[in-house]
Amino acid sequence: MNLSPIEPSILVVEDEQDLASLLALHLSELPARVQLAHDGHSGQQLALSGRWDVIVLDLRLPGIGGLDLCRAVRAQSASVPILMLTARSSELDRVLGLELGADDYLTKPFSVLELQARIKALLRRAAHGAKAEAPDDDPARIEAGALCVDRMQRRAWLEGAEIMLTPREFDLLWHFASHPGRVFTRSELLATVWGYGHDGYDHTVNSHINRLRAKLGDERTDANYIHTVWGVGYRFEAAP
Ligand code: CA
Repeated sequence: MNLSPIEPSILVVEDEQDLASLLALHLSELPARVQLAHDGHSGQQLALSGRWDVIVLDLRLPGIGGLDLCRAVRAQSASVPILMLTARSSELDRVLGLELGADDYLTKPFSVLELQARIKALLRRAAHGAKAEAPDDDPARIEAGALCVDRMQRRAWLEGAEIMLTPREFDLLWHFASHPGRVFTRSELLATVWGYGHDGYDHTVNSHINRLRAKLGDERTDANYIHTVWGVGYRFEAAP
């Protein structure tokens, strides 16, 4: 048993050595234990072999790129917070990073204070998430018509056949299925499923819902799980 509070461990994958050292210096002030990797391959090895409280990923890396690395981390863990660093501020990159499962992003150049604030927010959220996770009265499995969703396994089946879902699609589906009949606005879904205010990115929600619908066979007229409520948002109903 540790009597002193355990410092969070942060992995930083950044190929610019000066920036990486600067990040290590300032993140260790949080305080935190910081491990550096300078290319995608060693970054991936460290990311997948350790237990991290936050992973900071540069988008442009030699070897394995930041987005591929992000995808690999998400395939293994749905919950480790990921902060992407990008030199390009185009919206496409932002949305792409978030859709791949990053939790936040920073565009270079950024201030040390901004970085520290973002990392602290991710650590806080992770701590709250762990506490809020799985209250006793929460069901572990929801069955809705031909659909079955299992929270512990993070898997879903339609008519007995497994549907392959990304972590975010699973979170969306679980959120919907545990509130049948209730209408959610895009902002509500962003706040709940994505976890923080991305009010400007409603199309992120739309594109996830479209993909989720396709996987649920919701393009067929006789199987409607996720209904559009025009001008408001979306509602989940068990198909008849
Ligand atoms: Ca880079």
